[in-house]
Amino acid sequence: MTVPHSERAHAKLSASGSSRWMACTPSAALESDKPDTSSIFAEEGTAAHELSEIFLLHEIGDISKRARSIRLNKFKRTNEHYSQAMEDYVQSYVDVVMERVNEARASTPDALVLIEQRLDFSEWVPEGFGTGDVLILADGQLEVVDLKYGKGVPVDAENNSQMRLYGLGAYDRYSMLYDIDRVRMTIVQPRLDSISSETLSAVDLLAWGENEVKPKAEMAWNGEGEFVPGSHCRFCKVAPVCRARAEENLKMAEYDFADPPTLSHDEIARILEQADELQKWAKDIAEYALEQAEKHGAKFDGWKLVEGRSNRKYTNPEAVAELLLEQEYEPAAIFKPQELKTITALEKELGKKVFAEVLADLIEKPPGKPTLVPVSDKRPELQSRESAEDDFADSL
Ligand code: SF4
Repeated sequence: MTVPHSERAHAKLSASGSSRWMACTPSAALESDKPDTSSIFAEEGTAAHELSEIFLLHEIGDISKRARSIRLNKFKRTNEHYSQAMEDYVQSYVDVVMERVNEARASTPDALVLIEQRLDFSEWVPEGFGTGDVLILADGQLEVVDLKYGKGVPVDAENNSQMRLYGLGAYDRYSMLYDIDRVRMTIVQPRLDSISSETLSAVDLLAWGENEVKPKAEMAWNGEGEFVPGSHCRFCKVAPVCRARAEENLKMAEYDFADPPTLSHDEIARILEQADELQKWAKDIAEYALEQAEKHGAKFDGWKLVEGRSNRKYTNPEAVAELLLEQEYEPAAIFKPQELKTITALEKELGKKVFAEVLADLIEKPPGKPTLVPVSDKRPELQSRESAEDDFADSL
């Protein structure tokens, strides 16, 4: 059954939040009475899923070309997030899915292909359900494909609890009717040009569900276990006010640095490790406090709500221009020179394909400014200027 994107409910123990409630089991209960918030990124993601559904239903033969065209035109007219670039990115996702579908049909002509299926994994997680964007079943393999439209955070399918829960839900639903010995879970992030997959035997996936998920889900459902702060706090609804997270961050201030008056490189490395999380935490707290003060009249000792700084602005820019031209000021004196839109805005306007075809030779990507990142980052390490100079001197 296809579930309309706009009507999807959120489970208390959601698949998308599973990395959080599996790492910090009491977080789900603490979050449960906090309202869901939406963001422009979430709305864009929903729009991209709706668009992909139109394309995929046509590609797999469920709707005619005419129906595709009618739906697409309606989508373009009514969805404020539509852009040519979105259509291109969604098309590249659809191309990946259709490659997988064609591979499956090559081995199994009557391969099962399903779009936007509600998946129930409540066998392992109380009231657990989610939506599988695409399911492909052929030759003993069940594949679950997920579109991630965001480009802020790269998401890997390897060890991904959300995808595994979808895999469990899909297996649970179709293993009664079909022989399934392995489950492939694939994430496509078209805006990052990224496709990643993990394949598990059905036996291993079920064992993960039974041994890892079930006990943690039970604790999470009952609000039991230890609060465990970490990178999973990022989208936790109680993150700004969570005591465990605060204590973890404040430990940093209590760190007992060694005696010498200047910090060692090891100590700096330790601070850098924490600095990113500390900055996020401070930002979360500031945003939370502002919201509480502005919307609910909360008071914080030593702080007050004031009007922020603002800049003067024209009440009627056209009237300003008209008046100054009437007074015979030169256009060059009153108008800004015409300026090209940014690369991102133009790519959105023209679409990825046309943008690349027409402008590829006129775009360059200069080297980025050196930046310090954790060693786990996939970018290759740069040489420092000093060691590059030493290498150069050695080669002479
Ligand atoms: S902020 Fe982090 S530590 Fe606190 S409840 Fe949420 S996930 Fe757990």
